[in-house]
Amino acid sequence: MLDKINILGFNQEQLGKLFSEMGEKSFRATQVLQWIHQQGVIDFDLMINLSKTLRQKLSDRLTIQPPIQMLAQTANDGTRKWLLKVDETNGIETVYIPEDDRATLCISSQVGCTLNCSFCATAKQGFNRNLLTSEIIGQLWIAEHGLRKQGLKSEHSNGRIISNVVMMGMGEPLLNFENVINSLQLMMDDFGYGLSKRRITLSTAGIVPMIDQLREKCPVSLAVSLHAPDDDLRNELVPLNKKYPIKELLAACKRYVGEEDSRKKVTFEYVLLKGINDTPKHAKALVRLLEKVPSKVNLIPFNPFEQSGFQRSNSETVENFKTILINSGLITITRKTRGDDIAAACGQLAGQVQDKSRRTIKIQSFQ
Ligand code: SAH
Repeated sequence: MLDKINILGFNQEQLGKLFSEMGEKSFRATQVLQWIHQQGVIDFDLMINLSKTLRQKLSDRLTIQPPIQMLAQTANDGTRKWLLKVDETNGIETVYIPEDDRATLCISSQVGCTLNCSFCATAKQGFNRNLLTSEIIGQLWIAEHGLRKQGLKSEHSNGRIISNVVMMGMGEPLLNFENVINSLQLMMDDFGYGLSKRRITLSTAGIVPMIDQLREKCPVSLAVSLHAPDDDLRNELVPLNKKYPIKELLAACKRYVGEEDSRKKVTFEYVLLKGINDTPKHAKALVRLLEKVPSKVNLIPFNPFEQSGFQRSNSETVENFKTILINSGLITITRKTRGDDIAAACGQLAGQVQDKSRRTIKIQSFQ
């Protein structure tokens, strides 16, 4: 018998095509999408606006299979982290961050990561594989519908619990481009999660050609992990810089925001590492660097993990750094550390990765 097709990651077009191939009307696709993503229903039998015969036909051939929840932890500040099993050997992490005016889900795009940034816990896990679209959108499905089932009420007018998505979990989203784009489309689809592109942020370490591709295919808000104001230091912290140095990266950022809308900005993430990139000299160099790019800066206090070898800058240093940026007119915020008591903060996500050591082969191309 053929394996059933998992349609959790199918978008409107793909589902419409599949239904036509099965001899069904393609508009049924939008009904099924609404059941899955808006109602959280993954049992065809419960999709009562479809005929019984159709429901039977669908469940004979198709399945709707989210990742399996292994563990859910809630931090003191309400941040929640799920460990999700995506296959026999691999687990990924997803983090829900409630705030006063929004609730953000931080989603992973790969099992592990190939980029090997020196201060990131995910890097230490190595890399195994790209996540499928069903495994990426499945994280949003689990969070949205899992939290609804627990009785959490929506704070938002559209009835959804998750109001914002950040592609800032494990992995480099622009190295899993097709599946990430498919997932973003489902997040934005009115029959899916109906999120506007302003409410979705993709964070990249700087895969220059793919930044241009993203602009063409799905121009969501862009965040770039900069972390250093010059190539020498950035080569050390983010080895990808050897392949795509700062000048090329900033040029791509400028192209990304374009010139039509002066409100559009790229968010530059900058993790503050004690004694490494946190002096007034670094701050001033950063100001000069970002002069010609419409930017916001997001300062991230370093989140320690075992054997990281780095330390968090003290709060006075962070304040000084921030003041230099603000006084030069740069919009700057310091990211609040959330969920660090359950290792759910930025850069602490590790999941369970069966490293197939392909990373060692892959990263050579960045060196
Ligand atoms: N690969 C993408 C997506 C990961 S996003 C990227 O690099 O942007 C995760 C964010 O957390 C990135 O800005 C990353 O640089 C930052 N980060 C990684 N390790 C960290 C740590 N230990 N403490 C604080 N931030 C960290």
